[in-house]
Amino acid sequence: LKDTDAVDDHQITVCVRKRPLNKKELQRKEVDVITVPSKDQMIVHEPKSKVDLTKFLDNQHFRFDYAFDETCNNEMVYKYTAKPLVQTVFEGGMATCFAYGQTGSGKTHTMGGDFNGRTQDCKKGIYAMAAMDVFKFLRSPCYHNSNLRVSSSFFEIYSGKVFDLLANKAKLRVLEDGKQQVQIVGLTEKEVETVDDVLKLIQHGNTARTSGQTSANSNSSRSHAVFQIILRHGPQRRIYGKFSLIDLAGNERGADTSSSNRQTRMEGAEINKSLLALKECIRALGRRGAHLPFRASKLTQVLRDSFIGEKSKTCMIAMISPGLSSCEHSLNTLRYADRVKEL
Ligand code: ADP
Ligand code: MG
Repeated sequence: LKDTDAVDDHQITVCVRKRPLNKKELQRKEVDVITVPSKDQMIVHEPKSKVDLTKFLDNQHFRFDYAFDETCNNEMVYKYTAKPLVQTVFEGGMATCFAYGQTGSGKTHTMGGDFNGRTQDCKKGIYAMAAMDVFKFLRSPCYHNSNLRVSSSFFEIYSGKVFDLLANKAKLRVLEDGKQQVQIVGLTEKEVETVDDVLKLIQHGNTARTSGQTSANSNSSRSHAVFQIILRHGPQRRIYGKFSLIDLAGNERGADTSSSNRQTRMEGAEINKSLLALKECIRALGRRGAHLPFRASKLTQVLRDSFIGEKSKTCMIAMISPGLSSCEHSLNTLRYADRVKEL
């Protein structure tokens, strides 16, 4: 990817990102089955056997707005996905950026970044980079007298319920008024003025999100995390624009519907429902008059504002684990992403 590459002015952008094989995968000699032959293509090389048992590779091609290979870092991914949406928010629009993919594919790494317990030397993700650009816009001549205020919220949707990640995971109610305005009652919204303020909020929320979890009982893979950057203006502090950045639940959890554990099954069904509704809501963005099934899940309900209006823009980043053992999940992820952009 070169600096000169123009960013298209789509309402919906769909990108894919392949992460590198990790240490564990390298140790067990996992084969990398994903290639990125150009900046907008990804190929899955799925090993198959014919009836006579001769082996062959079934190569499945996918094309997106951008395809990032394992050498791309968070900065590059940000530049072609969420960065153009900061402009949208300053034009008074609603922007969303979703990280989609199976557990372990790099959603949290891309969105939240890697903190290693400290904010000073963290590896920044899209949440932090978007906030940095919001502050940059505010200091620019166009906006520095605009009286716009920046604040942030961070919440989680788990099994159809909303929890405030900035208030000890307090469970919150979602209300819809007569005008179909959806509100999360009592959601913490903190004013932020510096990048450091934002990094502290992200770290606080991330810690709340994963506290009390073991890897075997990882709730964070079954929840959607929503980090919002909100611009308000005027004496009433009306919402001017909003940027919602979403680290979705692992899409493989949607298949837990046959689990013998009732709760796991219910959670799986809820995840499945929300990811299907999300796909339809994003697709509706690009088509005037299309049905918007936002009430079909809590996730789409709380994001309703973002799916309506001419000024709404969205970007989906589908994350891919490159290993052979993830092949089926990778194909599912790519097919979903493909459907989102298909007209
Ligand atoms: P998810 O949130 O999708 O379950 P994570 O973001 O937690 O996945 O990623 C799983 C592991 O892989 C983490 O240790 C993360 O740091 C690492 N990882 C993910 N993406 C990359 C990448 N592009 N480069 C290097 N390491 C990555
Ligand atoms: Mg995660």
